[in-house]
Amino acid sequence: MTAGRYAPSPSGRMHLGNLLCCLLAWLSAKSRGGQVLLRIEDLDTQRCPRHFADAIVKDLAWLGLSADGPQPPVYQSERAEIYQHYYDMLDRRGLVYPCFCSRSQLHAASAPHRSDGQVIYAGTCRGLTPEQVAEKAKTRAPAWRVRVPDEEITFTDGHMGRYTENLARDCGDFYLRRADGVFAYQLAVVVDDALMGVTEVVRGADLLSSTPRQLWLYRELGLTPPVFYHLPLLLAADGRRLSKRDGDQSLENLRAKYAPQEVIGKLAFACGLQPTPRPVTPAELAGTFDWGRVPEGDICLPEGLF
Ligand code: GLU
Repeated sequence: MTAGRYAPSPSGRMHLGNLLCCLLAWLSAKSRGGQVLLRIEDLDTQRCPRHFADAIVKDLAWLGLSADGPQPPVYQSERAEIYQHYYDMLDRRGLVYPCFCSRSQLHAASAPHRSDGQVIYAGTCRGLTPEQVAEKAKTRAPAWRVRVPDEEITFTDGHMGRYTENLARDCGDFYLRRADGVFAYQLAVVVDDALMGVTEVVRGADLLSSTPRQLWLYRELGLTPPVFYHLPLLLAADGRRLSKRDGDQSLENLRAKYAPQEVIGKLAFACGLQPTPRPVTPAELAGTFDWGRVPEGDICLPEGLF
């Protein structure tokens, strides 16, 4: 059976971009008779307090998009032992090493950048001797990186088509664990989606370029990957990216102004799922849902729609 998921990082109240992602995850799974699972991505507990997670659960219920389980949801902040187990598998194979580079070293003017603006790690700490590691560890707690192969990873996204990255050339060794001990998103998301039995991942196009790293981790950890659907970014009418700073489009304000069917109807209209912004329930949309209707390029919200 299809198992989709919501994986929000509760660093604030949901906004329209998060909501579009939840709506499409729900429709994609439900239109095939599947289920949607909920995982709260609160690895960074400082940034992601529990009250925001609780608000997301309530907002999803208000919208008619409640998850099917588990109850309570999976909280990443409670799973360090599980991540440790998989981290150790990589560590035992000599794939993990400490990195002492500071943020300013990583972002030095000469550092090569990816097309998404992130820095490609140059491998500065890859070949440190045990003596060098011991010396550096006296003054700085290291973060931990995984050695990636010089290999093309290609996959076919359910919505965006083929995507390829050479991990060594296009990304570099990436973080598995921060200096304060918190496990990295890339590791946690792979372990959790696999252990929760997720069969399809629906998420924003900003994570398309994380997928080759994650597929490689699936392979190295002996886990079965899901199918991926990356959805276009939702932009404001003036072309700016929507963010939690667009307070007027937070669920808090939308709930004060509209009924849930109105919010869903307008959003469904903006992303091609219905010809007018008429109020609609998610269940009604599921009957005719087809990924082919969703644009591949960024979606601009029409002026005055919300
Ligand atoms: N927690 C991430 C977010 O809220 C999503 C991660 C994922 O879908 O893989 O942006």
